[in-house]
Amino acid sequence: MMKKRIDMSYQDPLERISNFKEVALGYNFEEALFEANRCLECKHAPCIKGCPVGINIPGFIRQIKENDIEKAFSILTNQNSFPGICGRVCPQENQCEAVCVRGIKGEPVAIGRLERFTADNVSAKEIQPVSVKYEKVAIVGSGPAGLACGGVLANLGYEVHLYEALHVAGGVLTYGIPEFRLPKSIVKKEIENLKKLGVKIHLNTIIGKTKLIDELFEEGFKSIFIGSGAGLPKFMNIPGENLNGVYSANEFLTRVNLMKAYDSTYDTPIRKMKKVVVVGGGNVAMDAARCAKRLNVEEVYIVYRRSEKEMPARLEEIHHAKEEGIKFVLLTNPVEIHADERKNVKSVECIKMELVESTEGRARPVEIEGSNYEIEADTVIMALGNHPNPLISSTTADLEVNKWGCFVVDETLMTSKENVYAGGDAVTGAATVILAMGAGKKAAYEIDKKLRGK
Ligand code: FAD
Ligand code: SF4
Repeated sequence: MMKKRIDMSYQDPLERISNFKEVALGYNFEEALFEANRCLECKHAPCIKGCPVGINIPGFIRQIKENDIEKAFSILTNQNSFPGICGRVCPQENQCEAVCVRGIKGEPVAIGRLERFTADNVSAKEIQPVSVKYEKVAIVGSGPAGLACGGVLANLGYEVHLYEALHVAGGVLTYGIPEFRLPKSIVKKEIENLKKLGVKIHLNTIIGKTKLIDELFEEGFKSIFIGSGAGLPKFMNIPGENLNGVYSANEFLTRVNLMKAYDSTYDTPIRKMKKVVVVGGGNVAMDAARCAKRLNVEEVYIVYRRSEKEMPARLEEIHHAKEEGIKFVLLTNPVEIHADERKNVKSVECIKMELVESTEGRARPVEIEGSNYEIEADTVIMALGNHPNPLISSTTADLEVNKWGCFVVDETLMTSKENVYAGGDAVTGAATVILAMGAGKKAAYEIDKKLRGK
């Protein structure tokens, strides 16, 4: 009986494709207790090493067993600023759960679900502002990297100003990951908590345009953390990508999630779509496809050039997408997008692919000559990954970036420019929430060390 983990309740697939409410419903107390009791509290705890920020996993699970949710939460937040977010979106199956001892002869402990349970059930603590005793520090970008950095610095006593280009804070947590995977109320709560601590958030402020990095120093900021993410979409450079009806996943998801195009009380325009092709195999592709499905689209296809095994998306997202009726067209790659006489997308010409051994480790997809065929579609969403936006690097002297446009940093996360730090996707390229959050936290401690001369 203990070999299997406790299932979580989910909204029924037929019901959920017509709403944007959260799909996974979380554990109740009884379920969480049962699942917590599956943890063996292993002495060598490989799960801790599997967690990118080293959470004391058996420690927090023990507190659930003892029904001390406050203590479980405090153990979690020693390492993880946002357990309610990470419990929902972290790829646990490749991290802590991948190495859980329970997984050897059965299913691993559902660590992510227990993390989420803890965050959802801890009693809200009134956050008190921390009095400022140190210098001003600026943060660029309000994604998980910037929020985590701001939280630590404010707690240490710095005057923190956070600059965000968009009109709402949260980065990808707000504009990218859909409501049905990560309710925006959870992200909002984290941002409100930061404000209560004393962090000043300046929205609609593009650093590199509204204000330059050097101007921030002139205004008296002693250190700057750049957590500007990787928001510049990649395209395939195939004919037809500039036709009406081709979106980048970023634009599509921003319209749907941030600008609430699915809600008829908002004015955000979105195409009337019947047949949608989403190109890509990561979380972004799954999110775009599942959002499209909820917009009353008849057919949604995911076109991916490798096989399902190689898909970078979380297993749970692939499973949910299939349950929702999204069609997977694997080992297939678009070669051209065709238009009707009004330059609207009419179909996507694809070619079949096969995987061949490669010396680089991952099997390489190659085209099967003459296997072209067309998928009828009125909309194409390109979800091929993102690069960092070059705005800040191109408007700041002495700020080195690598060939992908990512900031180059040393082991303290300082860039090539004195007192300018960077972390998250802006340094690593598109990665994960937990890594961005971990980098933001680390940078905050490094900034403190440097400014305090430690
Ligand atoms: P971001 O979250 O990108 O935040 C950067 C912020 O900086 C943005 O708000 C941006 O507007 C702002 N900004 C940019 N330039 C400027 C400027 N010049 N001035 C001021 N502000 C600026 N990861 C997971 O772990 N699990 C998932 O399930 C998952 N799903 C994802 C789904 C989607 C659709 C996407 C796009 C990503 C997903 N990721 C997921 C990846 C994860 O969200 C990112 O790795 C993470 O958000 C990176 O955090 P960040 O703080 O570095 O950047
Ligand atoms: Fe518990 Fe699994 Fe970690 Fe062992 S490896 S302590 S069973 S979560």
